[in-house]
Amino acid sequence: MPTQPVALVTGAASGIGRAIALAQARAGWRVVVSDLDEAGGEATVALVQAAGGEALFVAADVAVPADHERLVAAAERHFGGLHMACNNAGIGGDLAPTADYPLEAWQRVIDVNLSGVFYGMRQQIPALLRSGGGAIVNVSSILGQVAFAGAPAYTAAKHGVVGLTRAAALDYGAQGVRVNAVGPAFIHTPMIERLEQDPATQAALVAMHPLGRIGRPEEVAELVLWLGSPAASFVTGAYYPVDGGFLAR
Ligand code: NAP
Repeated sequence: MPTQPVALVTGAASGIGRAIALAQARAGWRVVVSDLDEAGGEATVALVQAAGGEALFVAADVAVPADHERLVAAAERHFGGLHMACNNAGIGGDLAPTADYPLEAWQRVIDVNLSGVFYGMRQQIPALLRSGGGAIVNVSSILGQVAFAGAPAYTAAKHGVVGLTRAAALDYGAQGVRVNAVGPAFIHTPMIERLEQDPATQAALVAMHPLGRIGRPEEVAELVLWLGSPAASFVTGAYYPVDGGFLAR
């Protein structure tokens, strides 16, 4: 791997993705910051630069296959290759029991949270192979292992990400591409801001975590950084919770 390898992070305008981009940059990676949100993405680039790192913003919708082609091409053109990709972009979607779940809401959650990861890997894997190997880290959730009532689409998509991760790990391990998934529990980001506004809901969320608090984006970023680095050279096809003990209960 070169001294300044190249990472690509989707959904990096906010929350966990921004923390991952910053952690990668602080560890010496050059970073392609991608998101739908251009202003937020440029703000992440500015944070990376302020930390002494190098980053490029590329607007992309992960639900659009051609956007991933553009994204990977930008990484190769601008930085000369790709060594790590983190498929992090995601949406919470509607909350409704399974039989009442709106069809359009189902489709959007699957398009972004599951197909978005597949479309991403289809472009990222050939680029990693062109760079001589590398790693992919897919951001699943605790809902990649267990379910929440009222969240059938999100739960199905995040379970799907774990399966897709394992399949790709088997397909490309022998060629030097490792693929892993991380499973955050509740993390302080704009995605859960609305839930945290109600004190009773906030207390209930905290109580689900044996560590007695909600997580920080930087705590997810540390795990992603390790999985994407050569320090995790014998780790592939795995699902790692980063959940304050949520799944241990
Ligand atoms: P966030 O703060 O809302 O950040 C997600 C980012 O992804 C936003 O900038 C969002 O842009 C972007 N995005 C949404 N749809 C996109 C699309 N189609 N194409 C490209 N970018 C898109 O959420 P977060 O909490 O950091 O979530 C990051 C990942 O962690 C998600 O996959 C989420 O499911 C997972 N996760 C989060 C938690 C948690 O408690 N926060 C727990 C488990 C797993 P817009 O703002 O413009 O929509």
